[in-house]
Amino acid sequence: MKTNHWIDIAVQTPAHSPVGGLLSYRSPFELQPGQLVRVPFGKREVLGVVWSVQEAAPPDMAASAVRDVLGVLEGLAPLDTAWRQLVQFSAQYYQRSLGEVALSALPPQLRDLSSEQLARRLKKQTDRTLVQAAPGHALSAEQSAVLAQMQMEMQAEPVSGAVTATGGPYLLFGSTGSGKTEVYLQAVQRMLQADPQAQALLMVPEINLTPQLEARVQARFGTDTVVSMHSGMTPAQRLKSWLAAHAGQARIVLGTRMAIFASMPHLKLIVVDEEHDPSYKQQEGARYSARDLAVYRGRLQNAQVLLASATPSLESWHLSRPPEEGGRYVRLQMPSRIGSGEGAGVLPKVRRVDMSKQPRRTVLSAPLLAALQERVERGEQCMLLLNRRGYAPVLHCADCGWKSQCKHCSAFRVFHKIDRTLRCHHCGLTERVPRACPDCGNADIAPIGRGTEQLEEHLGELLAHVRRPDGSPVRIARIDADTTRLKGALESQLASVHSGEVDILVGTQMIAKGHDFRRITLVAAVNPDTALFSSDFRAPERLFALLMQAAGRAGRDASQSAQSEMWVQTFHPKHALFEALKKHDYPAFATSELAERTAADLPPISHQALLRADARTQEAAQALLNAAREALEIQLSSDPATAALVEQVGLYPAVPMSMQRVADVERAQMLLESPSRMALQKVLWHLHAVLHQVRSQPEHKGVIRWLVDVDPQSI
Ligand code: ADP
Ligand code: ZN
Ligand code: ZN
Repeated sequence: MKTNHWIDIAVQTPAHSPVGGLLSYRSPFELQPGQLVRVPFGKREVLGVVWSVQEAAPPDMAASAVRDVLGVLEGLAPLDTAWRQLVQFSAQYYQRSLGEVALSALPPQLRDLSSEQLARRLKKQTDRTLVQAAPGHALSAEQSAVLAQMQMEMQAEPVSGAVTATGGPYLLFGSTGSGKTEVYLQAVQRMLQADPQAQALLMVPEINLTPQLEARVQARFGTDTVVSMHSGMTPAQRLKSWLAAHAGQARIVLGTRMAIFASMPHLKLIVVDEEHDPSYKQQEGARYSARDLAVYRGRLQNAQVLLASATPSLESWHLSRPPEEGGRYVRLQMPSRIGSGEGAGVLPKVRRVDMSKQPRRTVLSAPLLAALQERVERGEQCMLLLNRRGYAPVLHCADCGWKSQCKHCSAFRVFHKIDRTLRCHHCGLTERVPRACPDCGNADIAPIGRGTEQLEEHLGELLAHVRRPDGSPVRIARIDADTTRLKGALESQLASVHSGEVDILVGTQMIAKGHDFRRITLVAAVNPDTALFSSDFRAPERLFALLMQAAGRAGRDASQSAQSEMWVQTFHPKHALFEALKKHDYPAFATSELAERTAADLPPISHQALLRADARTQEAAQALLNAAREALEIQLSSDPATAALVEQVGLYPAVPMSMQRVADVERAQMLLESPSRMALQKVLWHLHAVLHQVRSQPEHKGVIRWLVDVDPQSI
């Protein structure tokens, strides 16, 4: 007699389908958890992951209603328990369906391949590569100490030789240019050479911004050993990388946040470079933090975890406080910049220009201009940062007060002079600049404020007389999201900076990150003050990290680092943030910032989640959130088992989001806050069920969607 097997399978289900989100199927053949299968779903055939195998038919449905598994993807080893646990945890913690998280963690092309196509791909695979690394640098004393500590806590199992990573997670706090990358590369090398199967995951914020790192890793380990994983790859490339990692053939995966879900059965080391970078937080679907998942995954797979930054997130900094104060991460330090020779290896001098002492409306102060001129005449490069692209953030009519408001968003449209358009940076609405004020006909409408495009133009005028050492005029270039829209544009623009064609580079924070510009000796933040008084409590942390990182761009070439400078134009030169910056003193900044967070009960002292609703009207969006809150409070307090949660978790009334309207959708949010992560998670679980109920009530028909953001990065 033919036996049936009852299988729970994860398939791509809609965002908020009930928790768990597994579907029951019947299979005429035996299946194992982690196998990939094709199953019918509605009228379609979809990819699924076998999650568990049941003893008997599911009790709550007629066996006849259960459909059959159609086939198995042959030749693929099942996804291992650790991978499944990672996915399951992520779905639970970030409040999404298991199927959604599982399927979006797989390369999209797996869904479309037939068994024959897959078999062909698999045949192309080569054997696991032996790691033969090109020689690295002779380590500095600080680098050696860090590696020794990690090594000490790594043990080889006597019989199998497999390495068990213990200790950590580590937070490597090292100045820019202290040689952190060299530490990762050598840690990877040691791990892979100690254990012939071991795999390492190297995560970076954005690969496109740091093509040099990719090249450096490949140069060190060989192209067969390393695969990349990021969203800029074609589906075919992504599948190829994924298969290589899954089979254990790729020993190193270099990727962005998505790589945290790579199937790596022999994962032994995870490095998170620039761990403070906000781009580790996914901003749609399951809003996971790849950095936080790295720590979780390390525990699951017994892999060492190394988080690294010159300006760690306050979360990681706080977690790496001394163990006697409750810290759980091991803090490793590399305070010195690598360098050799006279005056080398020094961090740039920070100079603050008090803009209140400059003539009104000054954009570039006289001392900064003079410094730029001097550098250009010496043949050195400079970099100017302004966190606003376009020509001007708003156009304005002085007669009637008209402003270039976007009609779909609560934002102004930005004036782009290059093609004379007004563009909304939120919904994309683009129109030609009107010849006259649309309201009163006044022909004299003027830009207010400035963006990178205007800064570039302005600088060109102010420095028109300046000559390079060879007598040719100064060359200014701009890099921002506008200049790099075309494929390959960023690469060629970066190349022109590296080759020395450009004297002054103007740009947004895009240029502050990671690039190893050897000849830049002066970096200036033109107008960083707005972040000091932002409503987002993380804005100062971001600004400090950005400025420290920007400062790290200056003087990377050891022979010039003695003269390198970081300039800040500010109306608040005595602000604690700039005082700490002047001393390159991240710990001082972190201490004062943490004191403020503690006083205000903000993360990392407390934990937060945001519930967001989108609707046609603000009232409808808020009504859903407030109704959910009331229903939740009643439900929790009526059960003695949950009554305490009401005390432990603060639920705030719904408010409009700071960007209240985008593309004609009104957005509202409700904040949940708790000193206990666990209590917050429990409340979110109850909230999830409540929301399904409330949402189905007729008075909330107008709501378009709701979503939960756990550990949100901006409020
Ligand atoms: P970080 O990642 O901390 O900013 P890097 O690892 O990029 O620093 O190192 C900065 C520079 O110093 C790089 O050019 C690197 O090649 C060089 N470097 C790193 N370690 C050493 C070392 N031990 N000896 C000499 N040069 C080194
Ligand atoms: Zn007007
Ligand atoms: Zn808009």
